[in-house]
Amino acid sequence: MKKTKFENDKMSDSTYKEKRQVMEIIYNAKKYSPSLPRIEVKIGKAKGNYLGFGRLGENQIWIDVKKINKSQLVQVVLHEILHAVFATPHKDTCKLMAPIVQNITEKKAWEIFGQYIDKYKQDLGCQN
Ligand SMILES: [Zn+2]
Repeated sequence: MKKTKFENDKMSDSTYKEKRQVMEIIYNAKKYSPSLPRIEVKIGKAKGNYLGFGRLGENQIWIDVKKINKSQLVQVVLHEILHAVFATPHKDTCKLMAPIVQNITEKKAWEIFGQYIDKYKQDLGCQN
């Protein structure tokens, strides 16, 4: 992404609270994949129709918590983690990796996330 697509919020009590919400989802994601690297989280305003960004392969995610339906926060964060950590591309037919946010339950989002994690675990090759 280009930096101009997102404006970081200054750290404040409310920004901190929003960041905590995202960090908690990342914490749960580590239960699926304990080897997930540290992920840097930025909170702020995303331009246009965007809700967040994940910088491909750089372990950084930007999330516009205020703009996201509470029920969709988990799926948006998991989507951006997959971009940022695994450089997972968009897939129109996937309910989690479609470029436009889909109406799925949190349970479904975690299920698909788990499928991706399993797939990447198998791709790791030599595990000695
Ligand atoms: Zn995306």
